[in-house]
Amino acid sequence: MSKIVRRKTPSVQIGGVLLGSAHPIVVQSMTDTPTADQSATLEQTLELIEAGSQMVRWTINDDAAAESAISMIKHLRAHNVKTPIIGDFHFNGHLLLSKDEELAALLDKYRINPGNTGRGLRKDENFATIIRMAIKYKKAVRIGVNWGSLDKDILSAVMDDNSKLPVPKSIKEVMYQAMVESALESCHYALELGLSDEKLVLSAKLSVVQDTIEVYERLARACGYVLHLGLTEAGGGIKGVASSAAALSVLLQQGIGDTMRVSLTPEPGVSRTREVEVCQEILQSMGFRYFIPSVVSCPGCGRTKSVYFQNLAKEIREYISFRMKDWRERYPGVEVLKIAVMGCVVNGPGESMHADIGISLPGSSEDPSAPVFIDGKKCAVLKGDAIKDDFIRMLEDYVKERFSKVSKP
Ligand code: SF4
Repeated sequence: MSKIVRRKTPSVQIGGVLLGSAHPIVVQSMTDTPTADQSATLEQTLELIEAGSQMVRWTINDDAAAESAISMIKHLRAHNVKTPIIGDFHFNGHLLLSKDEELAALLDKYRINPGNTGRGLRKDENFATIIRMAIKYKKAVRIGVNWGSLDKDILSAVMDDNSKLPVPKSIKEVMYQAMVESALESCHYALELGLSDEKLVLSAKLSVVQDTIEVYERLARACGYVLHLGLTEAGGGIKGVASSAAALSVLLQQGIGDTMRVSLTPEPGVSRTREVEVCQEILQSMGFRYFIPSVVSCPGCGRTKSVYFQNLAKEIREYISFRMKDWRERYPGVEVLKIAVMGCVVNGPGESMHADIGISLPGSSEDPSAPVFIDGKKCAVLKGDAIKDDFIRMLEDYVKERFSKVSKP
């Protein structure tokens, strides 16, 4: 892979997590439970943390949510859960944070949307109240601009200026300009108020992939603040996953982005942890971070009638997920392991040889035997009903041998 140079940004500490170009890209997520519902919110928060979310954001929209957040953070810290908790504020953040300063002190970061802090003078006053609270309690702030709630004063001003031009710019250009201006003006105001750039995170989310890329590229050129990446209202299912991956990958490939969240529309029966898994998969597939061993498997074709290899690939993935907790503790670095499960002789041996450990199953007209390759060398041929069990045994042996913490004599 060509070396990706991360865009240089300062280190921003949020609880025990560090953001910025000197640190790995951080995965974060947001609950969708009512924050006032402590049991549901705590349960989901712990699920997200267990899945690998390094920071978790809660909506704090009223007094009940604020009180609940105070109590839940105390509960988490009392149980030694140190994951930073972010408060998401709109409209009344200035009131909630100043009403009970315990909330301001306990949260690790505040997210504010400059389009939702009020209009005219009130907007600046409310924004300043939140920033002053962050300064007082040494907290980081994310200024999160969102196309759906863009600062109306800025949008009107940009549109007015545009209408006076001999050749007005396109609506898209006006939109990009307003997003970037809103983000940067708010950052500059926060810095004027005394917030350090080591406490500042910036995002500017839109719902269209190309618009998101364009706005983040402009922000990256215009400022050096830590950037939180995300595609807002990405949608659900395959569409949400594919759109998020497309937008974020293009930016990450340019070295843009210090932390990321994938915003998927909830679906019945799908865990909220999906958004964490998608972030991890994006980072891992691009080779930026590793979270779990990867299984390379072919799509199958007319050369293999049996679904045996499909099942085996699935079972190996499930086996790895099941074993990961233990593997992580006993075998540091196991996340980089690459396993191949292939359908026939065409690409099977080649992919298997390029993996750390791989198996090439027999295609329709091949001998019913499955060569296994370890570190590029053919080391066994499996046959019969126990192929899966034999391969898993070889996998376990390989992991133990290569990643064991115990030093070899
Ligand atoms: S490895 Fe074999 S079965 Fe798999 S896609 Fe290629 S040709 Fe088809």
